[in-house]
Amino acid sequence: MTINNHSEIREEVAKLCSKFPGPYWQEKDRNRDYPTEFVQALTDAGYLSVLIPEAFGGAGLQLSAAAAILEEVQAQGCNGSACHAQMYTMGTVLRHGSDAQKAEYLPKVAAGELRLQAFGVTEPTSGTDTLSLKTTAKRDGDDYIINGQKIWTSRAEHSDLMILLARTTPKEEVKKRTEGLSVFIVDMQRAKDNGMTICPIETMMNHNSTEIFFDNVRVPASNLIGEEGMGFRYILSGMNAERILIAAECIGDAKWFIQKASDYARDRTVFQKPIGQNQGVQFPIAKAYAQMKAAELMVHDAITKYEAGENCGAEANMAKMLAADASWAAGEACVQTHGGFGFATEYDVERKFRETRLYQVAPISTNLILSFLSEHVLDLPRSY
Ligand SMILES: Cc1cc2nc3c(=O)[nH]c(=O)nc-3n(C[C@H](O)[C@H](O)[C@H](O)COP(=O)(O)OP(=O)(O)OC[C@H]3O[C@@H](n4cnc5c(N)ncnc54)[C@H](O)[C@@H]3O)c2cc1C
Repeated sequence: MTINNHSEIREEVAKLCSKFPGPYWQEKDRNRDYPTEFVQALTDAGYLSVLIPEAFGGAGLQLSAAAAILEEVQAQGCNGSACHAQMYTMGTVLRHGSDAQKAEYLPKVAAGELRLQAFGVTEPTSGTDTLSLKTTAKRDGDDYIINGQKIWTSRAEHSDLMILLARTTPKEEVKKRTEGLSVFIVDMQRAKDNGMTICPIETMMNHNSTEIFFDNVRVPASNLIGEEGMGFRYILSGMNAERILIAAECIGDAKWFIQKASDYARDRTVFQKPIGQNQGVQFPIAKAYAQMKAAELMVHDAITKYEAGENCGAEANMAKMLAADASWAAGEACVQTHGGFGFATEYDVERKFRETRLYQVAPISTNLILSFLSEHVLDLPRSY
């Protein structure tokens, strides 16, 4: 099982990232600022449009290229969460949008003229239980009228468009429980002037996440993606790519932590010898390395299946869970290796530690992955 490693792309990404060293991220983190310059540099270099077909102005590369880019960004100590969704959110339009929607949006997304990196699924009352979401979209002439609330819509203030999942048929009236939800492309600027309010959420890391309120927001019916009522299926179809790419980011994080911990363990001398000579310091780093390598194989397995057009649901979920566990173990080893300095901002360790913790919870939490495997792979009874 070999996937294209994209070593040339990785080298170029690493070069770009070297222009955004630790102090850049420390300042952004301190002020909770969006890393506009970094995102612009990735956009200008064409990295955020690699998955868009050439016919629409993108590079038309496969998922392995996107994974290589995001892994490298993280391995260089940068934070791809500011813009990773620009790579894959367009997949909903690409796979399920009409020819007119693709022609209207994809070339502009590819050129970086439109930012399509807000994804409104999660709601405060329904949480992981997406089918219970309460935001409604009611048809009214040539429009739909949106009412409700989303939470954790990341990058909403830095996006021109949002992919929104809303209920178009009441839950009680649908034949199948997975029906009755629909996907819309929301023009954020237009919606902001017409009943949509975005409220930033303060979090433990710099993630630009928000809460969004919809009060009679009108969206043209021409912005409905695919068939009304089939939206849940469209959203699900994009989740494997998202999970694989987040897993690749976690592998990058793990590599950064392991490198940083090993370098420090070689350099730091206490009791007249490098701390890395002590097995108590070596072993957690070595164990995290082994975990990272195993998770990386699972990421490659998931990518191989994805690129072959096979069903990779189990592999994508396992890759995401194992890679998130590996990055967390590597982060823990890195903080411990640094002793007190692990807590000092200038080392970047505490920042990366906070950033990588997210992936145990988002975009899907570990428990829900285990539930998926239990039910769909092990044929155990559904627990919820
Ligand atoms: C920083 C950040 C950015 C995010 N960005 C986005 C975004 O851009 N767009 C978006 O739509 N969402 C986004 N999310 C939401 C994210 O996908 C959810 O937080 C995540 O899926 C978990 O949902 P929840 O927070 O509602 O937790 P809940 O569903 O309330 O679950 C809470 C805990 O209970 C556990 N749990 C729940 N049900 C079960 C069960 N049946 N069995 C076992 N355990 C269970 C979960 O595993 C979890 O640990 C983001 C979240 C964060 C924190």
